Amino acid sequence: MKIMAVNAGSSSLKFQLLDMPEENVVTSGIVERIGMKNAVFTIKVNGEKHSQTHDVSDHAVAAKLVLEKLVDMNIVDDYDDITGVGHRVVHGGESFSDSVVINETVLEAIKEVSDLAPLHNPANLTGIQAFQEVLPDVPMVAVFDTAFHQTMKEDAFLYATPYEWYEKYGVRKYGFHGTSHKYVSERVAKMLDRDIETLKTIVLHIGNGASICAVDGGKSVDTSMGFTPLSGIAMGTRSGDIDPAIVEFISTKENKTVQQVINDLNKSSGYLGVSRISSDSRDLWEAYDKGNPRGVLAIRKQAKMIADYIGAYYVYMGGVDAIVFTAGIGENAPETRELITKRLGVLNAKLDAEANKKRGVETILSTPDSGVTLLLIPTNEEVMIARDTVRLMNE
Ligand code: ADP
Repeated sequence: MKIMAVNAGSSSLKFQLLDMPEENVVTSGIVERIGMKNAVFTIKVNGEKHSQTHDVSDHAVAAKLVLEKLVDMNIVDDYDDITGVGHRVVHGGESFSDSVVINETVLEAIKEVSDLAPLHNPANLTGIQAFQEVLPDVPMVAVFDTAFHQTMKEDAFLYATPYEWYEKYGVRKYGFHGTSHKYVSERVAKMLDRDIETLKTIVLHIGNGASICAVDGGKSVDTSMGFTPLSGIAMGTRSGDIDPAIVEFISTKENKTVQQVINDLNKSSGYLGVSRISSDSRDLWEAYDKGNPRGVLAIRKQAKMIADYIGAYYVYMGGVDAIVFTAGIGENAPETRELITKRLGVLNAKLDAEANKKRGVETILSTPDSGVTLLLIPTNEEVMIARDTVRLMNE
């Protein structure tokens, strides 16, 4: 059966069509610049990319365009070939601890938590409604970035702020990248042929956005992103953890509103802010290799923050069996993996230099005598969305 995994942004719609339960990718693609006359539709078939510009006024037009192309290119016979659609939804608040079949009540609940993710949830909703319009009889499932982290205990998810902020406004740690952390931690058990119930894993999802997750017995027990994706480790353009008093201090010094300062923390910090070179790790490594001091500092700062979280989660879980590198940087930057591992001497972590040359393929990176197993596991959020869609359709 064919399942579509959809990730709708404010002006884009990403999709992947998978044959399930085989989990083979049939095709994938993206419509960008939705709302413009020169929107770009790109589809990848048999490893080859095809791009065209179209007039795409909204997400419903984009969804129709995608489906028409699938028929035109003989990828599906007709719309009935698509058995289910899984939608990535960024925020499920405390309402969703698992994926869910979409109905009116679910749509209302996603709307209700939109003030927690004002940029993302409305776009995700638009994507759902667009596909519902074109495929009214096809079951749809919502897969939340936050759901995997709903197993965190109160001591992990609560901030030490006035308790009423939590009761009245839902101020707490939610965590993100949950679909990725779940997929990767399940793969660890398979790769090591271990019962997931007995495994303590720390997942390092290091991409442009980045988060760390402590997974004990297959359940998220703590994670570095919080109320929003701004907290935790330094990222491409986000600061990660800072003293919140800095916000008021800078707003006074630079005559900026709180929103403007938060925008600086989201868009002009992290790799980019420290180095003033780039938010992209490839550019930073180039600078690092040339000895550019700020390039070196940006990379070291992030590695320190990652190692600090590993230390905290090692203590919180009372041990760690596996540490996993995933996402753009984790999967593709051996230099970053080496730098982080060097900080884990206390765990007796040892990288196998030959294995660490690998990029983008599942690999055990550590030597047999390493104190902790280090792994490279490419993340796959789309397959997780498709799996959940099939599971919930069958329930
Ligand atoms: P996003 O959070 O946008 O999904 P990704 O997971 O795609 O981000 O990660 C993007 C990051 O991965 C960028 O910093 C990019 O430089 C890095 N990256 C991708 N390929 C490589 C590579 N071959 N070597 C080093 N870094 C890489």
